[in-house]
Amino acid sequence: AKRNGRQSYRHYSAEMNAQVTARTMLRESLMYALEKEQFELVFQPQVSTLDGRIHGIEALLRWHHPTAGTISPAVFIPVLEDSGLIVEVSLWILRTACAQRMAWADILDDSVTMAVNLSARQFSDELICKHIQDVISDTGMPAHWLEVEVTESTVIEDIDKGRRILEDLHKLGIRTAMDDFGTGYSALAYLKQLPLDVLKIDRLFVANLANDTKDQAIARAIIGLAHELGMTLVAEGVETHEQYGLLSSMGCELIQGYLFSRPIPAIDFAKLALGQPLM
Ligand code: C2E
Ligand code: CA
Ligand code: CA
Ligand code: CA
Repeated sequence: AKRNGRQSYRHYSAEMNAQVTARTMLRESLMYALEKEQFELVFQPQVSTLDGRIHGIEALLRWHHPTAGTISPAVFIPVLEDSGLIVEVSLWILRTACAQRMAWADILDDSVTMAVNLSARQFSDELICKHIQDVISDTGMPAHWLEVEVTESTVIEDIDKGRRILEDLHKLGIRTAMDDFGTGYSALAYLKQLPLDVLKIDRLFVANLANDTKDQAIARAIIGLAHELGMTLVAEGVETHEQYGLLSSMGCELIQGYLFSRPIPAIDFAKLALGQPLM
């Protein structure tokens, strides 16, 4: 991998521009981030509108760069994907998330799921099911505690392959979630073709929910549709009591957003869990 990195650097240097340099430097430092333990998982609760308790958790990646500070995953995940480093980092994410869920066995309700984001690149890796199975058996975690989140763009390249992988994971007892729902192009086709347990309504429809009757109509329709299909709803990016009230009255089961908590380090999440119910 290192040799490839140098070769492509030489290739680019002919037409070098600032953007390529920045990306190359980013990739170089990402190569050492894992061994230098610069990655951290932070955790955000998914809170039930029925009892105010934590019913799910999403694990999100943070990179604490030694000089640049904390860098957003929106910036470095695409670089991890392009360079293929994402596969190794994702294994670390899965192991860390599952081990953390096991460590919290005593402070969380037994049904609480740990959701991990899967990248498109992982979805083109035939070994993904084996990797996930290994992580589950190594950590001893019940499979139904693990939830994988995919987006439309994750599966768009090869829908048949995507379906096969999700079906295999489903057979292991792992839960499947469609992330960012409503932001892609053929969302409804995917709902029919993929074995999905959870639908996450994108923040896009939640942000102006209180003032925009069109967003209210869309949210209500998505929730109704998902329920007809037997799926559980998670609303993302919920920041206000007003948004919470609307979504709750529409029958949305789970609420994720700054209203309850930002994504926080494990130690803080444990304290949050001890303070349940959150509403
Ligand atoms: P995502 O999967 O849609 O994650 C939700 C994002 O919304 C997170 O941003 C979270 O911090 C943010 N968020 C949560 N609640 C609120 C809210 O109430 N208001 C607002 N404004 N934002 C909220 P984050 O952590 O910066 O992650 C950005 C994206 O990076 C994620 O979007 C996901 O696509 C990707 N990502 C993050 N961690 C991982 C990972 O471990 N693996 C992979 N493959 N992708 C990841
Ligand atoms: Ca997600
Ligand atoms: Ca999302
Ligand atoms: Ca997103």
